Amino acid sequence: MRVLKFGGSSVGDADRIRDAAAIIQSSASAGTIAVVLSAMKGITNLLLQTAAEAAAGDETYHAHLDQIRLRHGQTIESLFSAADRAVVLQPIDDLIKELADILRGVQLVKECSPRTMDLVVSFGERMSCRIMAAFLDSLGAPAIMVDARDLVITDNYHGSAAVDFALSYRLIAEALRGLAEIPIITGFIASTDEGVTTTLGRNGSDYTASLVGAAVGARAIEIWTDVDGVLSADPRCVPEAFVVPQLSFKEAMELSYFGAEVIHPYTMIPAVEKNIPIWIKNTLNPNAPGTRISDDPTRDRHPITGIASIEGVALINVEGGGMVGVPGMAGRVFSTLAQVGVNIIMISQASSEHSICLVCRQNQARLALEALKRELAHELEQKQIERFELIDRLEIIAVIGEKMRGTPGISGKLFSALGDAKINVLAIAQGSSEMNISFLVHQDDARRTLQVVHRGFFDADAGRTA
Ligand code: ADP
Ligand code: ASP
Ligand code: MG
Repeated sequence: MRVLKFGGSSVGDADRIRDAAAIIQSSASAGTIAVVLSAMKGITNLLLQTAAEAAAGDETYHAHLDQIRLRHGQTIESLFSAADRAVVLQPIDDLIKELADILRGVQLVKECSPRTMDLVVSFGERMSCRIMAAFLDSLGAPAIMVDARDLVITDNYHGSAAVDFALSYRLIAEALRGLAEIPIITGFIASTDEGVTTTLGRNGSDYTASLVGAAVGARAIEIWTDVDGVLSADPRCVPEAFVVPQLSFKEAMELSYFGAEVIHPYTMIPAVEKNIPIWIKNTLNPNAPGTRISDDPTRDRHPITGIASIEGVALINVEGGGMVGVPGMAGRVFSTLAQVGVNIIMISQASSEHSICLVCRQNQARLALEALKRELAHELEQKQIERFELIDRLEIIAVIGEKMRGTPGISGKLFSALGDAKINVLAIAQGSSEMNISFLVHQDDARRTLQVVHRGFFDADAGRTA
């Protein structure tokens, strides 16, 4: 079996759905497949917005709900003959009514809990999958919408729930075994064992596809998106970025963790476990070879495979002579941040131990700083800690490649390129795996940094090491 996942842009309107359906049909004629879909492009964001507006008592949520209804309605109108439209529209209208009731409830209680938020966003995938299944049927390719909430079981950490792999694998395998129709499975959404709707985190449909692939022992997991593959950098920042033909699972995980949103980082977990290659393919250009992610990538001569970045971060620097040689200081810092739910993205500590430097999301920076000041108030008073520093509006840039290990001169090349371009680096971290060098720059320098680094490592002639 092969698993094909189509992202929001690949089901963004009637034309894209036609393209995706053609790929599904030709894949189905070559063997057994399962399909995973995202919501139509922009719908998840609109759903989040309606819920936030309803909770704030802002009546604009009605207009946004109408917009959601209209997008789906227009798509159905374009895809189906006049005779079929009403039948396809009915279940979508029922879902919109159910959603309107939920939003009315949110407005009344004036709050939208993470649990309700997950329920609200689940409507996007539930609608797109119904439309695709009906459309394939109308083309003479029998398909059935499958609600992943019956198959993917998670804990109740709403917004980014953790999967019960053994149970989910069993349920998925049972549901798909011997199915006559092409299953069109809702990506991103799941449920607790009590049937409460959860989600796997933004971009989580990729992860659903990989869970399905692992459950059925698929031959390949194909992520169909709007670019020709994983590129050497985000094409919106670096126009000369080129397709990387092959990547290892680790490189893909690192790149996606450090911001390459073309694939969700967790996607690699089930694929590694069952050793299933992942392909990134372009719905708009299906004949392009794409990127193959596997445990045995063909190695070319590039020491680095890609550059990625995480925007909207802040740096907190805890500084003081009294931390030198004191065991447990880093532990206290990290557990304090964990207690207030702050996720640390990057850490760097000089071997003098004079300062600990932490990077977190901008929107959590003040919470983190306050928590640290509370926890370390005594040390501050005793002058063991001299100061806390917060620097806002930064971006992490990460240079990634397994082949960097044992290749001398990478850091030299990197930092001299930055120096020549007069880009100020605020902190640096390199894991001992040596497959990632990450550093911090001011947000205003980020775009230029990505371009300078890309140029520093690759020729203008795409794909050639400089
Ligand atoms: P989908 O809707 O198919 O899930 P996403 O928008 O989640 O698509 O991911 C695809 C987008 O990721 C691309 O359009 C591109 O702008 C962006 N992107 C960021 N970094 C990279 C990268 N290194 N390689 C490819 N695409 C990238
Ligand atoms: N629709 C969800 C999102 O926008 C999941 C996905 O697209 O993968 O995040
Ligand atoms: Mg995506």
